[in-house]
Parts: sequence; C-alpha cells; structure tokens
Amino acid sequence: MSDLTTERVLQALTNLRLSTAAARLDSQLRAADERELTPLQFLDHLLADETAARDERSITVRTKLAHFPIIKSIESFDFDAQPTLDRKIIQTLETLAFVGRAENVVMLGPPGVGKTHLSIALGLRALQAGHRVYFVTAQDLLDQIRVAQLDGIPGHKQRHLNNVPLLIIDELGYVEFDKAAATWLFQLLCQRYERHSTIITSNKPFADWGHVLGDTTLAGALLDRLLHHSHVLNLKGESYRMRAKTQGPSHAKRKNGTQVGPS
Ligand code: ADP
Ligand code: MG
Repeated sequence: MSDLTTERVLQALTNLRLSTAAARLDSQLRAADERELTPLQFLDHLLADETAARDERSITVRTKLAHFPIIKSIESFDFDAQPTLDRKIIQTLETLAFVGRAENVVMLGPPGVGKTHLSIALGLRALQAGHRVYFVTAQDLLDQIRVAQLDGIPGHKQRHLNNVPLLIIDELGYVEFDKAAATWLFQLLCQRYERHSTIITSNKPFADWGHVLGDTTLAGALLDRLLHHSHVLNLKGESYRMRAKTQGPSHAKRKNGTQVGPS
C-alpha cells in the first residue's frame, strides 16, 4: 500500500474512533504480508484487536462504576475452608443465569465467613459478562437516604438503584433502619422485583429482619418479594480472618484475593 493510502486509512480509522485498529494497522499489515493472509483474514485480525481493546476498556469502566470496596474472585475463595457452602450453588450462580432471570441471592451468616467476598466475586463475574453492577453497603444506603431525607434521593441515583441489572447490598443488619428508610428499601425492592437481580448479605437471620427494619409487617412483605425467586446461602463457621490470624499471615496471603483497599 502506498504511503498516501496508509495515511488515508489511518486518518479514517482515527475519525471512526477505531484507535486500537489505527495503532495496530502497521503491524497487522506486516503480519498479513508475512503470513500471506487474505484481505478478509487481515481485516478479521485488525477488528479482533479493536474489539478486544474495547471489551477490556468497558470492563474497566464497569468495574469503576460498580464501586467494589476491594476485588475478590471465586478462584481465590477457599471452598475447603467453608464446608457449609455447597460448591454447586456457586457453580450455578457463576453461570449468571440468575441475573438473566432477575433472581435474587441472599447470603446469611456470622462475620468473616465470606459473604462479602462471594458477593463481590459474583458481581465481578457479572460485569465481565457485560452486566452493569452496583455495590453498596446498607450503611452507605442509609447515609444516602438520611442526607436526602427532605428532597428524596436524586432522580438519576434512584433510577440507577432501581434499574441496575445487579445490585449488591452488603451487610444488612449491622445498622437499624428507621421507618422512612425501611419503607424506601421496601419500595426499592418492589421496583426491582422480577425485573432485576439483587444480592443481599446479612449477619442476621430472617427472623430478626423485623427488628433491623423496625417493622415486622414491612419486613415480612419485603422478604416475600425478595425470596420469591431467590437462592439463599446459609454460611456458618468461624471467621476466616480470625483463622488466618491464628494460622499466620502466609495462610491469609495464599487464600485471599487482590487487596485494593482495607477490608
Ligand atoms: P463476611 O462478609 O462474611 O463478614 P468476608 O467476605 O468479608 O466475610 O471475609 C473476611 C475476609 O476473609 C476477607 O478478606 C475474605 O476474602 C476472606 N475469606 C473469608 N472466607 C474465605 C474463604 N473461604 N476463602 C478465602 N478467603 C476467605
Ligand atoms: Mg461482609
């Protein structure tokens, strides 16, 4: 190809915002020459480069928007250390069919048994598969509701919470909701019911949710919707953190995910 043609193609790729294809044009042209590729094969390789770069960029953006406090993976979860969890349930959830079917996941259990770890790991899988995900602690939600008590949660934020395909609410149960906040949470789950998936983790058994939400009738109605299409994981046992501490730092390092912030 003449220099002029190369320049024109480069300019067109840049104008069309195909920046990776523009950057790889030269090396892909040389590879096509060396390997005697057909024009179609050359185009296939160039577009594959562009698509791969785009996928990676969009996973990075979705990961930022998900607001995970830390990155955890299913690979770094030690199933042997958590015998009360049926591996098959996680294998089923990992397929993400539950997101497509707008089913919920509830993880119950005492502190340190891996609820947050698993919810983040599933969230990460979901966003790698192209879903938008948003992670929030119940405490953060409560703070947002309190700040917005007069005007309500801003419209765009409320729409996001209502419509994000996978919402993860972590640590329900550590803080008690007042009437307004509990009603708001109920309405949020009503909005999402049979439309979008929600993962909730809690240190409290369902019987105590009336106390957490300050209203047993409301808690009953909320659980009715939440549990209608749901997977409930009851995790038990000793805190993994404590075990890691007593067994030395190498244990925790070997088994844990990538630390990007305080746990
Ligand atoms: P929970 O949310 O149930 O309180 P976390 O998921 O925050 O517990 O777990 C506490 C710490 O222990 C985290 O660093 C987590 O990665 C780790 N952890 C817990 N269980 C396991 C496990 N079975 N395998 C690997 N790491 C685990
Ligand atoms: Mg937790």
